[in-house]
Amino acid sequence: MTIRTTIDGREETLSEYLCDWSDCPNIAVEVLGVIRSVGMRAAVCAEHAALIANRNQAKTDRFDSA
Ligand SMILES: [Zn+2]
Repeated sequence: MTIRTTIDGREETLSEYLCDWSDCPNIAVEVLGVIRSVGMRAAVCAEHAALIANRNQAKTDRFDSA
C-alpha cells in the first residue's frame, strides 16, 4: 500500500508508513493530515481510520505520534 500526501505543495509518496496510533503495528493507509509547523504527517491504518471516522469528531484522545 502506498499513500500520497502533499506538504507545502510538494507531493510525497509514502510506502510502509506505520500507523501513528499508539502501539499499533499496522501499515498506514490513510493520511489524516499534516502538522505544517513541524512538517510531520499523521497517518493511520484502515482500522483506525474507520474508528476515527465513526467517532465523527476531531478528538483523538489516544492519538500521538510515538
Ligand atoms: Zn492503526
